[in-house]
Amino acid sequence: MQPSFGMGRGFRESTDHAFTDPLTGLGNHRRFFDKVDRLISDRAEDPAPFTVGILDLDGFKPINDLFGHKAGDDILIQVGMRLRAAMDGHSAVARIGADEFAFLYPMVFSEEAAAEKAAMLIEILSAPYDVGERTARLSASVGCSLFYMGDETTEVLVNKAETALYHAKRSGRGCVVVYTKEMEEAAKRVTRIEQALRRAVSAGEVEPHFQPIVDLKSRRTIGFETLSRWIDPDLGPVSPEIFIPIAEERGIIGQLSQLVLRKATETARDWPSDLFLSFNLSPSQLVDQNTGLHILSILDRTGFDPRRLEVEITETGLMTDPASAQKIVNDLRRCGIRVSLDDFGTGQSSLGRLREFQFDKLKIDRAFISSILEDRPSEHIIRAILAMCEGLGMDVVAEGIEKEAQASRLTEFGCNAGQGFLFGQAADANATLGYLRDAFRGARHVDAL
Ligand code: C2E
Ligand code: CA
Ligand code: CA
Repeated sequence: MQPSFGMGRGFRESTDHAFTDPLTGLGNHRRFFDKVDRLISDRAEDPAPFTVGILDLDGFKPINDLFGHKAGDDILIQVGMRLRAAMDGHSAVARIGADEFAFLYPMVFSEEAAAEKAAMLIEILSAPYDVGERTARLSASVGCSLFYMGDETTEVLVNKAETALYHAKRSGRGCVVVYTKEMEEAAKRVTRIEQALRRAVSAGEVEPHFQPIVDLKSRRTIGFETLSRWIDPDLGPVSPEIFIPIAEERGIIGQLSQLVLRKATETARDWPSDLFLSFNLSPSQLVDQNTGLHILSILDRTGFDPRRLEVEITETGLMTDPASAQKIVNDLRRCGIRVSLDDFGTGQSSLGRLREFQFDKLKIDRAFISSILEDRPSEHIIRAILAMCEGLGMDVVAEGIEKEAQASRLTEFGCNAGQGFLFGQAADANATLGYLRDAFRGARHVDAL
């Protein structure tokens, strides 16, 4: 294929303020769109593909907060210089958002080549930055899309790169993703679920279900974990593994969580008073300083004793902004709410967290429990966790117990509490009340149920 370069007038650098980013001296959003527009019209006659990419700095905000705005600006200037230096005669880079840059590679014709170029930019940006006496490190994520003639506009092309960037961000730091058609389909599905979920939350249609947590020796129920359930009239039942991440990403989780906590505490206040209720908090809620206040005001309104509530948080939730999470955890504990560390042993576990944060309880992830019977390493890990929790004065719950043999092995190791399909799946308020009536039949404190 013989590409048409068509770079003439479109690529002359203009010093016009309307087209320049004052901080980095790179082109701005308008200049970038202008250039892509022109390249598209130049390629109308002699269509050769080309590449656009959006690059987003990972974790720039915490750096900005930590080192201050002046240092943040210095880093952006250095990023701008490095990106500019990485461009060849044909290519262009612009700053199109606070920590977002866009590049245009007129001579990059394939997805492989696009990914390679983008990976090189990430590499260049990963070297340390001077910030006064100190140095900072950054990584970046990139989404790319290719122009293949026809009806594509600059906006469509940039949107596709943004969609690819979104996928890159989701797969962790420092990744490149090149746009594919399937991404568009997935993006549409997510938007459809988001809209249906917004409506359901406003209409109060997400329901708490309750899964029993038992004392492993006596098999007595000691509490329940609240798990959200949602059935949409059109989409049918949607798993929380799908709708919770969407609620988190699209900023619906706070509202959803408040709705479910209100309903759950209204239900649980009628249970025997020695049963606790546990409730999941999402990572994004541990960045929002209003979370504690919202929880307390719900407990106040529903008349649920804070000492009967436990919140479950994951290590991911502590990592985004440890100081903010620390403050929320402390506020909750001061009011008598217990805090447990969920899904322990998966994700980016760090034992250091157990020193920095005070937890009342730790939940061993299902992954270890499901392999406890076949797998020596899992057994050793579980024993080590149990010994550590004993030393730290923390309770332990083993999650995802499905077989009697798992339960007895755990009891043998000294694990006191468990949760899983063996003891019961999550059930709605009515079914749970029925379960409690059976379980506590004859016990005095359940007569009122
Ligand atoms: P999780 O907090 O780890 O909750 C336990 C999940 O394991 C639940 O899935 C539960 O049904 C499932 N499970 C329990 N016992 C067993 C077992 O023996 N075997 C197997 N295979 N699975 C078992 P579910 O209800 O689908 O929830 C998935 C995740 O969604 C939860 O994981 C939690 O992270 C999240 N989630 C659910 N409701 C809420 C909520 O209201 N707020 C937040 N932030 N997250 C929620
Ligand atoms: Ca949980
Ligand atoms: Ca869990």
